[in-house]
Amino acid sequence: MSVMDWGIAQARAALAKGKVSAEELTRAHLTAIETLNPRLNAFITVTGEQAIAAARASDTRRGRGEVGALEGIPLAVKDLFCTAGVRTTAGSRILADFIPPYESTVTAQLLRDGAVFLGKVNLDEFAMGSSNLTSAYGGVENPWKRAGSPDVKLVPGGSSGGSAAAVAARLVMGATGTDTGGSIRQPAAFCGITGIKPSYGRCSRFGVVAFASSLDQAGAFARSVEDCAILLGSMSGFDPRDSTSADVAVPDFAAAAERGVKGLRIGVPREYRLGGLSAEIAALWEQGLAWLRDAGAEIVEISLPHTKYALPTYYIVAPAEASSNLARYDGVRFGSREKGDDLRDLYERTRAAGFGDEVKRRIMIGTYVLSAGYYDAYYLRAQKIRALITRDFTDAFGRVDAIVTPTTPSAAFAEGENTDDPVTMYLNDVFTVTANLAGLPGMSVPAGLDKQGLPLGLQVIGRNFDEETVFAVGRAIERAAAFSAKPAVMA
Ligand code: GLN
Repeated sequence: MSVMDWGIAQARAALAKGKVSAEELTRAHLTAIETLNPRLNAFITVTGEQAIAAARASDTRRGRGEVGALEGIPLAVKDLFCTAGVRTTAGSRILADFIPPYESTVTAQLLRDGAVFLGKVNLDEFAMGSSNLTSAYGGVENPWKRAGSPDVKLVPGGSSGGSAAAVAARLVMGATGTDTGGSIRQPAAFCGITGIKPSYGRCSRFGVVAFASSLDQAGAFARSVEDCAILLGSMSGFDPRDSTSADVAVPDFAAAAERGVKGLRIGVPREYRLGGLSAEIAALWEQGLAWLRDAGAEIVEISLPHTKYALPTYYIVAPAEASSNLARYDGVRFGSREKGDDLRDLYERTRAAGFGDEVKRRIMIGTYVLSAGYYDAYYLRAQKIRALITRDFTDAFGRVDAIVTPTTPSAAFAEGENTDDPVTMYLNDVFTVTANLAGLPGMSVPAGLDKQGLPLGLQVIGRNFDEETVFAVGRAIERAAAFSAKPAVMA
């Protein structure tokens, strides 16, 4: 097996035995980036020289016997995490030249554990989108192809499309992502890899460019459940610099993944059997439940009665918070600035030139639902429904230990399909937004290929701060699915 197919766990073992150095691993991945990134556009910024220096420093530490949990492991960072001295764009023109003077807590913890960053990866502008097509730095190509259609470019999903494509195409062993309504789980499913969004408060939001603060969570992408567990272990933990960070112990996620599912009760929400759900996805879902039953779990039908309100609720709450968070980009304190005749003119021109259409749409929706006269009708009502959606989950978790659903209503789509109408695009998030509204951990695991040869994912949702069960269920699905297909770009 080539170095490029190793996961994090295998690379750690090889590094420990001295079979390979961190510098060799880093150089091999930088070469892959050089070859494939011009086509995939997964990276916005490649930090090759810094990466080689970091890898050498890691080899030196190893020589002294200092070995962190991610010592020498090549990773990519979603360009929404502030990285000290390295440009952080949030996928937006308005932050094209923004070089943060500080490091986000999550990336600081990965560096503390010895990780080597190869660069910053592409995303939908300010993490708003499901296709990566709203990025000011161009779309990302999904490394997978529909069988027989090598010329059709598929989207990698979004908003963390660069993270998912980079991991799937073996440009890095893992990547950070953020998930406000599905931005880790949906691209993981579209690219045939594993992604976890932990419980709200598990990972610090300090230094993560804010989209919708009550929903945003950092999380991890990798090519196996175990690797995701290793990454999340490093990223998690209480941070006094984030007022919503939870002061709870970080368990050994990788050990939890091996617990098995014997005796677990797995819930299947009746309301997720949508009318239009494709037969293939419905069949894969049934298959996933059968695997879990064979592994000793009990399958229980549950009801999450307010599911049908989740998308409208999300698309009120998220834009409302976004409109407030993005008010800071005024051309005075952050990012690019356009000339204006007076201060107001400067603000208007800066924001008109700096933000793309989707971001403007969200700001307009957000300010509308928060405006006097409409606040009660939209925002306040959405907050009340959000509480009911959370209560649905609390009730369900009285009866079951985890919930399993499809991750997305379709496989990866092509540029041009789904992408003209914003509402069609928003429907992509139908299975994922509920976990964000309720703050729950959710993971997507590749479970099979559709008729066109594209990956499909199953989603596992767990109780608040019970990522351990999510990992155990995810691992059981992974083991049974034995997903080993590789994207076309690797062929
Ligand atoms: N697709 C969703 C949106 O456009 C989710 C994005 C995310 O999770 N950051 O808002």
